[in-house]
Amino acid sequence: MSQKRFSKSFTQQEPLPDDAIEKAVTVMQSGRLHRYNTSGDDWSEASLLEKEFADYQGRKYCLACTSGGYAIHVALRATGVSPGDAVLMNAYTLAPVPGAVYQSGARPVLVEIDEHYHVDIGDLLAKARESGAKYFLMSHMRGHIADMDAVKRACDDVGLILIEDCAHTMGASWNGTLSGNFGRVACFSTQTYKHINSGEGGLLVTDDPEVAARAILYSGSYMLFERHGARPPKETFESLRLNIPNFSGRMDDLRAAILRPQLRQLDANCARWNALYHEMERCLREIPGIEVPERHQREDFIGSSIQFRVGEITEEQISGFLGKCEADGVALKWFGEDEPRGYTSRFDSWHYLGDLPDLPRTRAILSNTFDMRLPLTFTPEDCRVICEIIGENLIAAKQRN
Ligand SMILES: *Cc1c(COP(=O)(O)O)cnc(C)c1O
Repeated sequence: MSQKRFSKSFTQQEPLPDDAIEKAVTVMQSGRLHRYNTSGDDWSEASLLEKEFADYQGRKYCLACTSGGYAIHVALRATGVSPGDAVLMNAYTLAPVPGAVYQSGARPVLVEIDEHYHVDIGDLLAKARESGAKYFLMSHMRGHIADMDAVKRACDDVGLILIEDCAHTMGASWNGTLSGNFGRVACFSTQTYKHINSGEGGLLVTDDPEVAARAILYSGSYMLFERHGARPPKETFESLRLNIPNFSGRMDDLRAAILRPQLRQLDANCARWNALYHEMERCLREIPGIEVPERHQREDFIGSSIQFRVGEITEEQISGFLGKCEADGVALKWFGEDEPRGYTSRFDSWHYLGDLPDLPRTRAILSNTFDMRLPLTFTPEDCRVICEIIGENLIAAKQRN
């Protein structure tokens, strides 16, 4: 144990802003919680959120739905993924991503990552050729944005449709372009641990009218799609409306109402996350044996969590290190653990995918990768205390064999 103890919770979010709470109360008092239960010509909160998020992203169309994972499933279907199709995806991601591919009936083809947690483009190209895949579902996992110029080039070279999972990159950009504006369609999550918080929720954006119309129909719009806030022209729906099943996954107006004020605070909050990240990064780098991945100059990421690796450490020492940190109030996650815990999950835990080829590079990188959330309830001083605890416990753990 270290001399210090940290007593704040790594899962404690800030309260919602007052205007979000007021708006929620208004919606509840109205009794009109369903997005199509509007009175007269009123726009629903969900439709307004769609308009505002489409504007924020600079995309034409947006669909608000029940979760990020749902948005990914619908994005796959809407871009034409059919049962049996191969879908490439980086192997370092969160469990809802392979789940969404599985739900679409497609066959995930896992791609290696590199030591910066980015997709390994050489392996992407090799696996695209090998599998004949036409789709690449790319997670900017834990906010790490790969060189998107290189990714786009690779996709163009082998004819891959790019679908972005931006669960950790809402508000982040590569070389001045917002994440989510590189692929044909992009998916965001508004689940509590992401950048705007409605408990659960998802947003899908695209400039492709057919993809947007299909996504809206899949989400369960009945024949009320004209009431959507950022939708393609009515004609686009004509040939599709009787051919797309209703996968009921609409966002309700209560959640949309609390998200709209948060969207207005998003950029300011991103700056606050980055202040925490940079302080944590600076202190972690002072600890011998800890490596925090370098970020590319063109990557304008949001540091809502931080990842680091520890060199030359045995599994036993890792267990000791994690135990000591936990006793001192520092909740670290270890992506190398065989047994998934909390949100950590390695590709070989997804048994329902059947036998998959091993990914030695990804496994090696994750074997000593640690992860920490940085909620906005933390201060830069908290980051320094956390680092001290990590540093002392790492040294102590490494002295034992
Ligand atoms: C959270 C997350 C999702 C899915 O979000 P839900 O809204 O929880 O379904 C997808 N991808 C990544 C990388 C995530 O972290």
